[in-house]
Amino acid sequence: MTANGATLGEWVATARARFSAAGLPDAAIEARLLLGGLLGLSNTEVFTGGDRLLGEAERQAVAVAIERRLKREPVHRILGHREFFGLDLRLSRETLEPRPDTEILVEKTLFYLRRIVAEKGRARILDLGVGTGAIGLALLKECPQAECLGSDVSEDALATAMANAHLNGVAERYCTIRSDWFAGIDGKFDVIVSNPPYIASSVIHELDPEVRDFDPLAALDGGKDGLDAYRAIAADAGSFLALDGIVAVEIGFDQKQSVTALFTQKGFLLAESAQDYGHNDRVLVFA
Ligand code: GLN
Repeated sequence: MTANGATLGEWVATARARFSAAGLPDAAIEARLLLGGLLGLSNTEVFTGGDRLLGEAERQAVAVAIERRLKREPVHRILGHREFFGLDLRLSRETLEPRPDTEILVEKTLFYLRRIVAEKGRARILDLGVGTGAIGLALLKECPQAECLGSDVSEDALATAMANAHLNGVAERYCTIRSDWFAGIDGKFDVIVSNPPYIASSVIHELDPEVRDFDPLAALDGGKDGLDAYRAIAADAGSFLALDGIVAVEIGFDQKQSVTALFTQKGFLLAESAQDYGHNDRVLVFA
């Protein structure tokens, strides 16, 4: 055995020990995920392939990746992509890393989207602030009768979302536009969906370093009270909504009342709310 080991098993053990010593949670899982992702191996292959010898280039890549994780860069940022609702999504500098909690927003939205498609035969979606494209692309994948316009202020995010649309086979029904919320957008949509920035500016420094230092600030910072984006969306959503359309948004754990108030002031009704895996209020649907 060389100083850092020669086999996959030795490197997984090294990564695990170093992550654990640095106080990172889920050290064993992350070690397997990181090594498997770098080497193109499934979790099972990492489990059973401990004797596999790593070449010099592989060892170097693994060593660099371990150091990056120790500086609190999230595993999926190091790998450059992650799974979301069955899609493989590329990440880039200006895209929020898609979270499992956001899959609940997709699930809830899908229920309404399918109902609309059952009635109209088709549906138009507007995804505000696309990032990687996660939400709109997952909806398109699940609902072949839908088409989606994705907007973002970041060109980098739009390019990433379009690349992800191609990677996941839904590009012919996906379109992007550079836009600040509704600015420059035309037409009516059956579903307006968004996971906007919703963290109050003053508490961003309290977030985990994985989020604070690696997710783009523009995708997190919701202004003084965290509600700026909802104000902008609630103010204009009515003008862009087709008859019987819905607006579905992800929210911060303590924002159900305040966001509901913003939308009800504009004449919307709360159709549904849902909690995330940690039992926090996370999704609101307005009609
Ligand atoms: N859910 C993200 C977090 O945990 C915040 C994402 C957002 O502001 N839309 O930090």
